[in-house]
Amino acid sequence: MDLEFRNLTYTVQSRIAKATKKVVVKGVDGKFTSGQLVAIMGPSGAGKSSLLNIISGYRSAGVTGELLVNGQPRDEHQFQRSSCYITQEDLLQPLLTVREAMDVAAKLKLPRGTKAPSEEILQELGLLEHQNTRTDSLSGGQKKRLSIALELVNNPPVFFLDEPTSGLDTVTTTQCVKLLKQLARQGRTIVCTIHQPAASLLEFFDQLYIIADGYCIYQGDTAAMVPYLESVGMPCPRHHNPADFIIELTENPATVKLLSQEILNGKIYKTSKIDQNCTEPLPQMQLKVCYQAEDNAPETEIMLTNEKCVYKVQSYSNTASMCSLSSQLSGINNSSAWMKIQKPSDYDISYSTSYFDQFSILLKRMLLQISRNRQGLWIQLLHHLMCGLLIGACFYNMANDGTEMFNHLKLCVGIVIFFAYTQIMVPVLVYPQEVKLVKKEYFNCWYSLTPYYAALTVSKLPVQLFCNILFSTIVYFMAGIPFNVMRFITFCAVGNMVSLVSEGIGLAIGSVFNVTNGCAVGPSAIAPFLGLGVYGFDFAHQIPLIMNILMKLSFIRCGIVAMVLTVFGFGRQPLECSEVFCHFAKPNVLMQYLDIDKSSVWMEIMFLLIIMLVFRSMCYISLRWRFAT
Ligand code: ADP
Ligand code: MG
Repeated sequence: MDLEFRNLTYTVQSRIAKATKKVVVKGVDGKFTSGQLVAIMGPSGAGKSSLLNIISGYRSAGVTGELLVNGQPRDEHQFQRSSCYITQEDLLQPLLTVREAMDVAAKLKLPRGTKAPSEEILQELGLLEHQNTRTDSLSGGQKKRLSIALELVNNPPVFFLDEPTSGLDTVTTTQCVKLLKQLARQGRTIVCTIHQPAASLLEFFDQLYIIADGYCIYQGDTAAMVPYLESVGMPCPRHHNPADFIIELTENPATVKLLSQEILNGKIYKTSKIDQNCTEPLPQMQLKVCYQAEDNAPETEIMLTNEKCVYKVQSYSNTASMCSLSSQLSGINNSSAWMKIQKPSDYDISYSTSYFDQFSILLKRMLLQISRNRQGLWIQLLHHLMCGLLIGACFYNMANDGTEMFNHLKLCVGIVIFFAYTQIMVPVLVYPQEVKLVKKEYFNCWYSLTPYYAALTVSKLPVQLFCNILFSTIVYFMAGIPFNVMRFITFCAVGNMVSLVSEGIGLAIGSVFNVTNGCAVGPSAIAPFLGLGVYGFDFAHQIPLIMNILMKLSFIRCGIVAMVLTVFGFGRQPLECSEVFCHFAKPNVLMQYLDIDKSSVWMEIMFLLIIMLVFRSMCYISLRWRFAT
């Protein structure tokens, strides 16, 4: 697929001073052809990542200009499915082995029943011997290769990579770029940003797109750059790395302006001389294949190139004859770098798997990850156990004491607050990192958001329900609440509902804020609910209507009311009274005192359910919004 962009501008708004806008990419043009390894180069902060994000569609807000595919305006939806974006940070699913990660990718990306070429890909990328290693234990270079391998599963024709070599040593960098070159030679369009490659590395790239201060200052063949610079009066000194040289040139704003005008901000493509009557001996040539992108393309061109010339060998009409030619030419230069010639797959608008399949694959993956996170499981278990015992000890055998009205209330409030705070913080701390990973997978069309969200919700249930029930059981029996099956079940259900609402709030916060801000927002989000929850216990009958309505919105209030109704309802007998007269010995006296005698526990649970749905929908919408911009 040939990519083209015209008059591309990207404007960002400063988060602090809303009025100030910054133009990061300034009306650039350019063209990236299939079969080519393209490097977007430039000094730090020049706008490389921004340009890559725009061309790939990873960013769409604040972008103007035209994006074309094979000369036609592109359909973003369709384009997303035929391209993939590999972020600078290697975002890999933790707690899975390389092989498992590949298998999940294959199951999600390929139609059911299709055999995934996972083994071949791992072999070709040198990861087969590490297939049983956990993704978090891989080295930097291996992580990068795995990121590429995961996307290769469905063989997309376009790859975007943001700084694939940053953080890698020279040997690994070269391996990585060689691999990209190999992928490009199979007919893909590979575009990557790179900061400042060594001269030896620069030669691997077919095409350079150099950007400085948001302007394009060079676009064309790598080999054509030095002659071009010489032609505009900026000769690159001998023995000087051309990449260093052009980056040094960008230090001067006047030079940037001049070069950008010279290349018409990317409208011109500088090519190395093409000599149709090339007489170079064949063994010094390099094989280059250019595929036509469309299925009904009449022919495929095969070219032989070296630094000096491009020699068009022949046009072949089908892949079979092409393969035979490639094997004839296999003696030519560096043929070991060749993989099986494989035309990049054509793309499909719909997902390869159904929503239900996506849901079940993701659910399995999440459950596997949860079960492998032993430390996390132990922490959760111990937390619930310890807190259960602690609260149980505080209210030991007090739940049936008619003289202890305030202790009954404190018990109910304590339980609800425990659930609210426990469940809000985990997603606030964990989810922001996951959102980045999910955004990558979602953007690369692994799955749709709805099945993901459903799997996320369901996957957390087993552990959460188990821990909550464990805590509830300990507290229930230690506090000495009289046993009744319905009361016990409702007691556990109310606790679980509060915990699910709270988790929903945590997810909503985690999907919008980063960890630092989330840590401040999380607990403070609970505070108003808590205030409304415990407001007016001692003057319940004098609470004004408006306040009453507000209090209904607090899930903590709903939880406390439901808890009190559960503990004192379900045909509760009068409490024990060790004094002459116990005002609160009759359960309904307390309920009348709190003005909740007309409420029903089922109504409160309904309210909790509604509040939970509201927060979980908020989380869903905020994820959609984040992924769309
Ligand atoms: P690089 O070439 O190093 O990849 P980037 O494309 O990341 O550069 O950024 C180019 C410039 O745009 C930088 O100065 C950066 O601060 C600015 N920039 C990018 N995105 C934003 C944003 N969302 N808000 C404000 N400034 C931004
Ligand atoms: Mg960058």
